[in-house]
Parts: sequence; structure tokens; C-alpha cells
Amino acid sequence: MGSARSRIGVLALQGGYAAHARALEELGHEAVEVRSSEGLQGLEGLILPGGESTTQLKLLGLAEMDAPLDAFVRSGKPVLATCAGAILSAASVRDFDQRSFGWLDVAVARNAWGRQVFSFEAKADEGGPFGAIPLVFIRAPRFVELGARVEVLATYQGEPVMVRQGNVYAASFHPELSDDRSVHKIVFP
Ligand code: GLN
Repeated sequence: MGSARSRIGVLALQGGYAAHARALEELGHEAVEVRSSEGLQGLEGLILPGGESTTQLKLLGLAEMDAPLDAFVRSGKPVLATCAGAILSAASVRDFDQRSFGWLDVAVARNAWGRQVFSFEAKADEGGPFGAIPLVFIRAPRFVELGARVEVLATYQGEPVMVRQGNVYAASFHPELSDDRSVHKIVFP
């Protein structure tokens, strides 16, 4: 089964964008590193990688990308936001409060699965579209409140670790750091 090759952007201002680009190429897509608003043009989807959300917010501001990025995500093209990307996507952020774009009607708590030394690997709970996929957590945020329109796609110990609202998918873990491609595949078939 060949999937159509799409041009998918990976926000490349900071953080773990390279592994996401490799995952997209593995699936036969063209991965485009995005560092400016011009770079968003002509893309059929976008990945917001993990990293440090405060730094990413600062760099987005310096690159004058806030409004173009917001428009791109709200245009309805598929977006995969992981870890720091999920924090940028949330409606509200706790520990500590910071600016966010509100594409997902969720509240997140930063670093709530433990700090760097507490990064760990686990398996998702059975069930849902993915089953027991590998989960890599690195100072991961927790989804602490979900609005009614938010669908849970994966859980760990009964807690949501991947959610979706319309075209925006967000994971608190790092699907690009395991060799299971089912998360990328569901967003970018
Ligand atoms: N703790 C980071 C933040 O708050 C996110 C961690 C990650 O992306 N691996 O931005």
C-alpha cells in the first residue's frame, strides 16, 4: 500500500525536529524544515516538535511567526504536536503559566511526568487506534483538563497521553524517538 508523498513541514527553530523529519521520510513524505513564515507556504501538514516550549515561544516571536503559524494550524491541515509542541497548542498552561495558542481545548501541566532525570520509556495502555505503542517521555507535560471536543487516542496508566481535536493531534510523549511509526502514519497517511 503506497501512501501519497506529501510535503510536510517540521518547525525547526529549536528542539527535536531532526528525528521527526527522519520519521516522515521513512513514511515516504518530503520533510521540510521550517524556520520562517515563508517556510509554511505550500505545506500539506506540520509537526511541532518537542524541546523547550519557553525557548520555542521566544524564537517564534523573534521570527514573527506567531500569526502565520496560528493561521496555518487553523486552516485545517493536519498538525502533529509533541511534548513542547503540545504545550504551545494548549488552551492553558500550568507550572508555570505561559502564552499558548489554544488550538486544543486542553490544560497542560509542564514537566508533570518528571524532570529530565525522570525521563522514562513505557508502553501505552491497550485499546484505542494504536494499542500498546512504545512511549518515550522526556520531562513530559500532562493533559490535566480536556474539553468536550477533545478525543483521547492513547492513554498510559489510564491518563491521556495523546489527544486530537479536529486537525490537531498532540502527544505528551515522543513518537519520533521510538521505531513505531503508527502515530506519524495516522496524522500523515
Ligand atoms: N518540559 C518541556 C517544556 O516545558 C517539554 C519537554 C519536551 O518537549 N521534551 O517545554
